[in-house]
Amino acid sequence: MNRPMNRIVIVGAGECGARAAFALREKGYAGDITLIGAEPHLPYERPPLSKEGLVEQQGPKLVADADRYQSVGISVLTGAAVEGIDRNARTVRIADGRELSYDRLLLATGASPRHFPGQSQTIPLVRVLRTHADAEAIRLKLAPGSTLAIIGGGFIGLELAATARKLGADVVILEGLPRVLSRGVPEEIAAVVAERHRLEGVDIRCNARIAGIKECEERVEIELADGGILVADLVVVGIGAVPNTALAEAAGLVIDNGIAVDETLCTSDPDIFAAGDCCSFPLGHYDDRRIRLEAWRNAQDQGTLAAANLLGAAATIASVPWFWSDQYDLTLQITGLAEGAVATVRRDLGDGAFILFHLDASGRLISASGIGTGNAVARDIRLAEMLIAAGKRPDPLALGSNDTKLKALLAA
Ligand SMILES: Cc1cc2nc3c(=O)[nH]c(=O)nc-3n(C[C@H](O)[C@H](O)[C@H](O)COP(=O)(O)OP(=O)(O)OC[C@H]3O[C@@H](n4cnc5c(N)ncnc54)[C@H](O)[C@@H]3O)c2cc1C
Repeated sequence: MNRPMNRIVIVGAGECGARAAFALREKGYAGDITLIGAEPHLPYERPPLSKEGLVEQQGPKLVADADRYQSVGISVLTGAAVEGIDRNARTVRIADGRELSYDRLLLATGASPRHFPGQSQTIPLVRVLRTHADAEAIRLKLAPGSTLAIIGGGFIGLELAATARKLGADVVILEGLPRVLSRGVPEEIAAVVAERHRLEGVDIRCNARIAGIKECEERVEIELADGGILVADLVVVGIGAVPNTALAEAAGLVIDNGIAVDETLCTSDPDIFAAGDCCSFPLGHYDDRRIRLEAWRNAQDQGTLAAANLLGAAATIASVPWFWSDQYDLTLQITGLAEGAVATVRRDLGDGAFILFHLDASGRLISASGIGTGNAVARDIRLAEMLIAAGKRPDPLALGSNDTKLKALLAA
C-alpha cells in the first residue's frame, strides 16, 4: 500500500462492523477508526431478539459498552445513516450533512427483512423482526390470551413462536411451502422442530395461501385463499431478508446478491471492502461458489478478516459456514453447504439427538446438520466442520457409527 492509511471508516454498526473496529486495534492499527450506524444504539447482538432477549425486557445486549470503544479510540456515531459515498473524493456523507474522509472504507450494512407484498407494510400491527425497536414493539403485544400470527416458518418465525409461547401467547404459523425450514434444513430435522412446536401448542399451517391482510378494530384479519379468516393481535412477517446494497450500488460498486467481494472481501473498488450479511463472496471450500450468509459467526469472522485486509494482509476467506438456532430447549446446528449432496448418513447421539452428514458424489463431506437438547450436537458439529475444512472423504459406515470418534476420522 503506497498511500498513507490514517482514516478507516466503517459503515454499519452491527456485529460485523463492531468486530472489525476492535480487530483493527488488536492488529496494531493506530490511525482513526469511525464506526457509523443508523440505529440509535451502540452495536448489539441480534440473535437474542427472537430468543431470551424478547422475554427479558432489558435494553439491547451490547457487543461492547461505550467505555470499551473509548478506551481503544474507536469513534462510534449512532443514529447516523450514511447517504452517499464519493469514491473519487474518498468521502462518505451522513444524512445530517456531515462528510467524513476515508483512506479505506468497510461496508458492513447488514440486511433488511423482506416485507409481505401489498398493503400490509402500512399496518402498524404487521411487523418484521430485525432490530431492538422491532423486538420491543412485538413484546408489547405478547401476553397470555393474545394471538400472534407469524407469516413464514423459517428460523426467525420459529424462534419467535417458541418465545411467544413462553410469554403465554397463542401462536399460528402460516407457511406457504409444504414444510417449515425448507431452506437449507434437512426434512428429518425440520420434522423434529415442527413436532416440538406442535407439542408446545403452536398451530403450524403449511401450504397456506394468504389472500389479503387488513386491520380491523385494533386487530389484524388475515384472509386465507381457502376462504378462512385468521384474526390476530399481531402479525410478524418472517420471510427472509435482503442485503442492504443501496449505498454500494449508488456508488457504482458491483452487486451480485449482495455487495460482490472477492476472496479477500474487497469490492470492485480496491479501497472499499464489504463483510457480513450485506456481501456475497466466493467460497474456496465449495469451488468458489458465490454465496451470501446471514449468520452471526460469519459476521464476526468476516469482520476480523476485513480488518486484516483493510490493513493490507490480503488473507482469504477460510471459514466453513456455521449457524445455530435455539427453540425451547432444542438447539439446531448446521455447518457447510448441503447443496450438491448425493448421500446422507445419520449418527444417533442418544436422547433423541442426531446428526446428518451430507456427502457429495466424490464422497467428500460437505455439510452436517444436527439437533438435540442443549449442547448435545455442538462438539460433533465442530468436528464435522473441521472435517469439511480439511476436505475429508470419511468412510460413511464410520460416520454413522457412534463407535468411531469423529476426531479419529480427522486424523485419518
Ligand atoms: C432476530 C434475529 C435472530 C437471529 N438469530 C441468529 C442465530 O440464532 N444464529 C445465527 O447464526 N444468526 C442469527 N441471526 C443473524 C445474525 O444476527 C446476523 O447474521 C448478524 O447480525 C449480521 O451482522 P452484520 O453486522 O453483518 O449486519 P447487521 O447486524 O444487520 O448490522 C448492520 C447495521 O448496519 C446499519 N446500516 C445499514 N445501512 C446503513 C447506512 N447506510 N448507514 C449507517 N448504518 C447503516 C444497520 O442499521 C445495522 O445496524 C439472527 C438475526 C436476527 C434478526
